[in-house]
Amino acid sequence: MSTTVSAERHNVVIVGAGLAGFHLASALAKQGYPGDVTLVGEEPWQPYDRPPLSKQFQLDGDESHIWLAPELGPAVRLLRQCHAQAIDLARQELRLDNGSTLPWDRLVLATGSRARRLPQWGASPRVLTLRTLDDARRIRDALQSVASLLVIGGGPIGLELAASAAALGRQSTVVELAPRLMSRSAPAAMADVLLEHHRSQGMAIHLGRTVVALDEGNAEAVLDDGQRVPAGLVVVGIGVQANDALAAQAGIACDDGVFVDGWCRTTAPGVFAVGDVTRQRNPVTGRFERIETWSNAQAQAQALAAIWCNPAAARPYDAVPWFWSDQGSARLQCAGAITGEQQAWRVDAAGGRVLVHWSGGQVTGVATLNAARDFVQLKKLIVPRPTITPEQFRAPTANIRALVQQALAA
Ligand code: FAD
Ligand code: NAD
Repeated sequence: MSTTVSAERHNVVIVGAGLAGFHLASALAKQGYPGDVTLVGEEPWQPYDRPPLSKQFQLDGDESHIWLAPELGPAVRLLRQCHAQAIDLARQELRLDNGSTLPWDRLVLATGSRARRLPQWGASPRVLTLRTLDDARRIRDALQSVASLLVIGGGPIGLELAASAAALGRQSTVVELAPRLMSRSAPAAMADVLLEHHRSQGMAIHLGRTVVALDEGNAEAVLDDGQRVPAGLVVVGIGVQANDALAAQAGIACDDGVFVDGWCRTTAPGVFAVGDVTRQRNPVTGRFERIETWSNAQAQAQALAAIWCNPAAARPYDAVPWFWSDQGSARLQCAGAITGEQQAWRVDAAGGRVLVHWSGGQVTGVATLNAARDFVQLKKLIVPRPTITPEQFRAPTANIRALVQQALAA
């Protein structure tokens, strides 16, 4: 595959009208992309933002802030309630569940991810997950009539929701299997501070534990050490799985996520992917990872639009991963890697916490709690590690010295 792209008229079909699909379609429209753009979404609504669903929306139920689509404009054809069923690579067609097919020159998978479930309690109306607007409405409704919320999983979903329920006056309990909170996405030392914060606010947190039984009659759950905890409503927040089945069925390389390079290309010519569904090289750790953040979904989609609309200035996407998580009065922000050989703390005058990690003398990670200004500054020090792609390396005409210099200068 060549890394050069052309601004010729290519019809684009984007599967998934979530954050990444929306930002790609909207950036293409704004930049005057010279081809048809069709956005295919299975949900019945126009595209919306997910972050408020575990936070403000649980407090006030106000949906007016979540909608994204008014910005789409007439240049984008939005098909709602259409589930894409299969990709025909040879014919360059996408088959929909309504029996129709859409031809494409460029197909983009922006299918995101779905909440992992605990199948043993999947049928209970008291056990919910949170990924979609429908889920959020169901949880909000259920919270009106219970005294307590039990969240299984101490990641951002669980902690944000537990903090929202606490603000509504519900008794909030979090049960986390790992010995600490936020093990996938935040440094251990920051997770300890967060634990102290939430406990000081009255949240009950059980680490290294899981739920073995639900006693729905008594609105309680039983933990693996025999403790009983209040559980009027149970929300399972134990992570997500990539919606990569379409790609996998078409023979595109996947492993809980569709592999993409810096140009958002999958292993199938003409097929691209953006957002939560991708497995991409993290420029800080150097590993292929799924980067499950709002900022990645937006920036990766916008990078692909820029590659297509302005090929002369195109450069591979290599943004440093970062996210925020508002958990009641705690605003956690993390960027880069969550570990490093060295770490140091500061506590500011207002009690905000700042944690920095170094590896090989370079700042590789920053995490802050209620210190947003310091986060914005320190994040600038985390830079992508230079690299070359296998294609650049394999190219018979490539001059190794020039390649390395080019990578170091980028
Ligand atoms: P998604 O938003 O999952 O969108 C994918 C869309 O594709 C969905 O609408 C899905 O229905 C559709 N789709 C899937 N398969 C098909 C198909 N075959 N045919 C048609 N349509 C299909 N991140 C942060 O950084 N900070 C936060 O504070 C934050 N808060 C969050 C709060 C909640 C409650 C949730 C759920 C997530 C939060 N996130 C946050 C994560 C962030 O929202 C995601 O990283 C982001 O939504 C990913 O965007 P996406 O477009 O890749 O995937
Ligand atoms: P997560 O992977 O971050 O955390 C899941 C947690 O559940 C982990 O700590 C894990 O150890 C724990 N767990 C797994 N199995 C368990 C079990 N059987 N019992 C108890 N604990 C168990 O995922 P999440 O918090 O569910 O979030 C889902 C998705 O939503 C992620 O993609 C996340 O990035 C996104 N999200 C992000 C934000 C944010 O960045 N502010 C907010 C909400 C959601």
